[in-house]
Amino acid sequence: MKFTFSLKGPSGPFHDPYLYLRFYHTGRALLFDLGELYPLVPRDILRITDVFVSHAHMDHFIGFDHLVRLHLPRTSSLNLYGPPGLIDRVEGKLSGFTWNLTRDYLLKITVRETDGDTWSASIFRAITGFAREDLQSETCTGILLDGRQFAVTFRVLDHGIPCLGFRLEEKVKVNILADALRNMNLIAGPWLSVLKEAVIMGSPVGTVVRVKTGQGSEEISLKELGEIYKITKGHTVAYIVDAADTAQNEEKIIELSSGADILYMEAAFIDSEKELAAARKHLTARRAGELASAAGVKFLRVFHFSPRYEGKVDQVLAEAEKGAGKNVSVHAGWKNR
Ligand SMILES: [Zn+2]
Repeated sequence: MKFTFSLKGPSGPFHDPYLYLRFYHTGRALLFDLGELYPLVPRDILRITDVFVSHAHMDHFIGFDHLVRLHLPRTSSLNLYGPPGLIDRVEGKLSGFTWNLTRDYLLKITVRETDGDTWSASIFRAITGFAREDLQSETCTGILLDGRQFAVTFRVLDHGIPCLGFRLEEKVKVNILADALRNMNLIAGPWLSVLKEAVIMGSPVGTVVRVKTGQGSEEISLKELGEIYKITKGHTVAYIVDAADTAQNEEKIIELSSGADILYMEAAFIDSEKELAAARKHLTARRAGELASAAGVKFLRVFHFSPRYEGKVDQVLAEAEKGAGKNVSVHAGWKNR
């Protein structure tokens, strides 16, 4: 399965959760949850444009300061999406610092929170010392981000508090045909990223791309390059953390992760401690496997284990595998590949 993006989860089963997704051809990155981000290098963090926050429990939101710290001197625009209360949480975080020397900085943070029916949004700009600017509320359609290449949708799950589960669906994937490339005497290089982006953005067929040839380089139109690529539907990734094992959650989780290529999912507790899982409103490893199987996902990457299972990681993984059955391939969500 050749992906057009890379995925990086946290560095261990007990680490604060996040999922970093970077598109190869543009370098743009998305982040699901704001756990401890230190395993990501600054260069990775600076690629982030949009952050999807499941909820603001500390282990999912502690990385906010680090994100802002790195983006502060840049002209970045960061978008955050999350459940009700996120705007207050962001305002509270930002008001914990002094901003008198950063008034010429251009960082802009737009925060959108939703209960599933309406959106509230606020903007925080470095130039005003991150004073909160509220925007008008809008009706929510269930879509967080909808571009030409991909869309991110969500459902509100019950974790004692609202917790968002996410689904990223890649609408278009541009596949380069190696034989056709050779037939046209073209040599692969960074220009293929330019071509892919032009195709994804729906550029006119007369648009020219500077390509690499055996003789050097030349400009060729998208129309002429039409034979070296094929457009297919891309991949789907779902991200589900911190959800109680209820019938309503089950339905929403299956819907969100239906047919996903990769599902990142919490496996917080083992089956013999399912009462504790219920009390803490988390899923067990076995249930993670069962839900992945019911949703027909290809790969389940479990993570976000309770620290009480230190030394028992294999047992948690085995329970997820047992729940998933033979149609889902279960992996450790912290082993990035
Ligand atoms: Zn939580």
